[in-house]
Formats: sequence, C-alpha cells, structure tokens
Amino acid sequence: MFARSDEVTRAVDGVSFTIERGKTLGLVGESGSGKSTTGRVVLRLEEPTAGSIWFEGRDLTTVDGEELRSVRRRMQVVFQDSADSLNPRMSIGRTIGEPLRIFEVAGESEIATRVAELMRLVGLNPAWAKRFPHELSGGQRQRINVARALSLDPDFIVLDEPISALDVSIQAQVVNLLVELQERLGLTYLFIAHDLAMVRQISDRIAVMYLGRIVETANSRALFHDPLHPYTQALISAVPVAVPAMERKRTPILLKGEIPSPRNVPSGCVFHPRCPLVQNVCREVVPEYREAFPGRFVACHLVDDQGSHLVRPRPLAS
Ligand code: SF4
Repeated sequence: MFARSDEVTRAVDGVSFTIERGKTLGLVGESGSGKSTTGRVVLRLEEPTAGSIWFEGRDLTTVDGEELRSVRRRMQVVFQDSADSLNPRMSIGRTIGEPLRIFEVAGESEIATRVAELMRLVGLNPAWAKRFPHELSGGQRQRINVARALSLDPDFIVLDEPISALDVSIQAQVVNLLVELQERLGLTYLFIAHDLAMVRQISDRIAVMYLGRIVETANSRALFHDPLHPYTQALISAVPVAVPAMERKRTPILLKGEIPSPRNVPSGCVFHPRCPLVQNVCREVVPEYREAFPGRFVACHLVDDQGSHLVRPRPLAS
C-alpha cells in the first residue's frame, strides 16, 4: 500500500490485506505499530504514497471529487470515545443527524425520524435526543458515535479502538452491539485494537502489525491455536485464559525493549532486536510476507512452507 522511499518516514510499509463483505478483520499490535494510520489510509483520510485501495471494484486512490464523496458515504469510521469525539455543545439528536445534513440527503422531518430509528437501533432511548453528551456514560456516548456512523447507511466501517476507553464491563456490551448490527445490516468491519482478547471476540480474521508491517494474518481460531510469528506468540501469551487450570499454566513471553521509532527501522526483520528466536539471517535479510500454507500469511525466516517452525518456538504454556 505504501511506497518505499529513503526520504520519508514509513509509518506503514508494504501493508496488504483483504476483507470479505460482511466479515471483520481485526488489526492488532502495540501502540505505534501503524494500525490507526492504516485505517485512515483505507478511508483516504490520509493519502498513501503508493499502492491501491480497492472497494467494490474501484481503486479508491484514483477517485476524487463527487465520486470520492459518494464512496465516503458508504465508508464510515468510529473512533475511541474521547473528549473530542463528540461536540459537547451539540445535542445527541443533532449529532446523529449531522451527516445527513452534510450530505444533504434528507429534510429536517425525515432526519428526525431517522435519528429516532438509529437511536433505537443502537439501544438508546429516542426521548434522549435533546440531551447533551456530558449527560451520558462512556458506553452511551459510544453508541451515539455508532449511530452517527450508521446514519448514511454505510457498507464498511473502520472501528478504531472503539472500546479502549470504556470500562471493561461496558466493552463487551459495545462489542455485542457491533456484532448484532453487523448481522442485521450486513456490515463489513476493520476492527483496530491493541487488546487481542477483544479482537478475538469480533474478528473472523486477524492481522498482526509490528512497526508498520503486517507480520501475520490468519483466521482468529488458527491464530490463537497456533500462532506462527514470534511476535504473535508473545501477544497471545499475554492474554489471560478463562479456564483457571489453563491460566495457571500460562507463561507470558516477555519481550525486551520497546517498539522502535519508525524513523529508526531495524535492518532485516524489523522485529529482530526483540525476537526471542533471532538468528543471524534475521539481522540482514527481510523475511518475505507470504502465504506459508492456505490461509496463513506470515513474515518469519523460521516458518517453512508447511507452517512448521524450523526452530521450535517456546511453548505458550508449560
Ligand atoms: Fe524472529 Fe527472525 Fe522470525 Fe524475525 S525473522 S520474527 S527475528 S525469527
């Protein structure tokens, strides 16, 4: 998706993925891995330096003007609930109906009807339309953000850390709402988060990002059952297990150091300074991101074409 250039900092580099209609791709990684940049580029809120973004047979990097405006209606975004995600001076009803005004697709009475419909759809009482964001809880505010994103009847939504700012008890409710809406409306999601446990609940497939690259992609079950990349193994080893006997056996893999700056990308495999399995080749040769076997994509020198590890990784539980 993004070009190589020695003059620019590559926040995201060589990223490639597809999302099937009606499905969810989870995008995970530490803060600074390039997840949000990827989401913004997919929506063309940021311009890629090269590459293509295909949506229903059209390369979005080649559209502009009215065509881009019409595509934008069908691709929406929900950000993390934060102080600036909603205008504190705008009522809930006004907020949810705002995209309909901006795109001039309905008159005021139709907007009022649609707003009430959307509020019911996301589990909010339509009688609250005149209230203001500060009168609601974080979970309710996030429902407003979802309702606003749905107002133009989109097909695709980028959910950028939509539950990260919420209490743990509320997170599951919002995820359940997103799953219900997806089934009901046939939505396609790109779900961006750093919490792998939550991503697992909602995603059909998961892509793991590290320092602007995707290092592994697989369906959720396969990724958790048999992570191939050492970074994925470390992330999964940090996820608590619900079964107490298994949780007692869980051995987190501790990675040394911090994720480097995109201005200072390591040579060879970008993960090599922190990789517990690093070999000499890793310091010099960039591992190819490839389909190691059907449906399993990985960038690691130690995974062969049958998905076997040439060097046995540490077990996730001992
Ligand atoms: Fe670790 Fe080498 Fe694989 Fe990179 S290529 S993840 S450094 S083993």
